[in-house]
Amino acid sequence: MTGPDEILRSARRAAERRIAQLDADIAGLRRDRSTESADDEHDPEGAPLSGEWSRLVGLREAAGKELSDVDDALHRWGAGTYGVCEHCGRPIPEARLEARPTAVRCVECAGRESR
Ligand SMILES: [Zn+2]
Repeated sequence: MTGPDEILRSARRAAERRIAQLDADIAGLRRDRSTESADDEHDPEGAPLSGEWSRLVGLREAAGKELSDVDDALHRWGAGTYGVCEHCGRPIPEARLEARPTAVRCVECAGRESR
C-alpha cells in the first residue's frame, strides 16, 4: 500500500512538472507576442493571444496553489499532524484523504466552512 507521504511526493512532482511546462508556455507566448507586435501584418491587439494568456496564467496560479497545499500537507506529515482536522482535531477519514490528499479539514468542518 502507498503511504500518504508517497502520494504527496508524487503529487508534488506532478505539480512541479506542470508549473515548469506552464512557465515555458507562458514564456513562449510572451515571445510570440513581442514578435507579433513588431509585425504590422498581425493584429496589433493580439486578441487571439490574450484568451490563451489568461487561460495559462489561471492554470499557473492553480498549479502554484496546489504545490503550496502539497508542501503544507508534507509539512504536517513531517510534524505528525497529517490527517488531523485543523478545525476540530478529529482524524480526517481515510477515504477523504485518498480523494483529496491535501485536505486539512474533515468533511463536516469543510462543509461548515464553505457555507
Ligand atoms: Zn473537523
